[in-house]
Amino acid sequence: MIDPFVFNGLPSRVIFGWNTLRDIRGAVQGLGARRALVLATPEQEGKAHEVAELLGDMSAGVFAGAVMHTPVEVTAVAMAIYRASNGDCVVSIGGGSTIGLGKAIALRTDCPQVAVPTTYAGSEMTPILGETEAGRKTTQRNPKILPEVVIYDVDLTYSLPIGLTATSGMNAIAHAVEALYAKDRNPIISLMSEAAIRTIGNALPVLVKKPDDRNARGDALYGAWLAGAALGSVGMALHHKLCHTLGGSFGLPHSETHTIVLPHTVAFNAAAVQHLLAPVAAALGADKPGQALYDLARKIGAPTDLKSLGLNASALDEAAALAVETPYWNPRPFSKDDVKALLEDAYHGHRPRN
Ligand code: NAD
Repeated sequence: MIDPFVFNGLPSRVIFGWNTLRDIRGAVQGLGARRALVLATPEQEGKAHEVAELLGDMSAGVFAGAVMHTPVEVTAVAMAIYRASNGDCVVSIGGGSTIGLGKAIALRTDCPQVAVPTTYAGSEMTPILGETEAGRKTTQRNPKILPEVVIYDVDLTYSLPIGLTATSGMNAIAHAVEALYAKDRNPIISLMSEAAIRTIGNALPVLVKKPDDRNARGDALYGAWLAGAALGSVGMALHHKLCHTLGGSFGLPHSETHTIVLPHTVAFNAAAVQHLLAPVAAALGADKPGQALYDLARKIGAPTDLKSLGLNASALDEAAALAVETPYWNPRPFSKDDVKALLEDAYHGHRPRN
């Protein structure tokens, strides 16, 4: 029997394939724009210059200063460069950090964006922006934030270091997992989420052995698209709240934190909504969803304890307090003590019971 639901389709154009970046000029022209500022992190500055070259006279220059968690100070610098460049569009090439910067500029100017993701973080498919100011990360949704065009070019993901391949893939799985039990879940997004978990769950163990496996790289990026679309369409819950708190207030790296915390939030929620999490275990060929995610992380050599990220044990209490201060909806109600116990398991890297 099907339950009643609401489905919000998000209006973006997705181009998926190999060597798809070659038509970047066409993508910018298709938006009615004339000159694009190309954004990247300092590490991917070379890629940004390649894009600028492909754009030719449609390039308004390069700003390669994007950093994780979108600090507002960096956005202020990028905004000044965008305005001085006479650009009317941004092209963001990179992971969620670069795409976040493009979104922050679009939020302030309503300029169109072309996103060229090179990780599996999925930000390109969402109208969501998390910005960090004075040590606090706040997240907002706004239609202006959603990139108009997304170019998935599998060729750009072969250079993704193997550690980031593993944790970014787990980050994508986290989006799909929370979409399965979201308050506003719907059958289309659940289909996409299950497919994302299965596809990425199969691709990652192949990629850690053979990072340039063509099929697995394609599958992982396809799964990341599905997972990003799921994150963009329905609400987030406790897992994302904890990761935003640990990232925004304690500076922990995004994808590693998702990888470590996910098995524990899933085990916690499975105790209340086991039926909604059964597809996670099934997609990963296991019985218990939290254990399945933990075992996948171990199998692909990803970190499984917050201690290894350099977090001080004394921070757990403060993190739990922050997470319950402005909580996200969650299928299982939680107290500060619940969150602290969950974080302690994640801190020590215990294998979950569920
Ligand atoms: P990232 O963008 O910070 O990238 C990590 C590092 O890997 C960077 O140095 C980057 O230049 C490099 N890199 C990326 N792709 C590469 C490639 N193919 N080859 C070689 N190096 C590469 O990491 P991320 O995990 O993609 O993004 C994290 C950020 O994205 C966080 O700030 C997070 O909050 C945000 N995010 C936002 C959303 C959203 O919907 N708003 C969703 C997911 C993530």
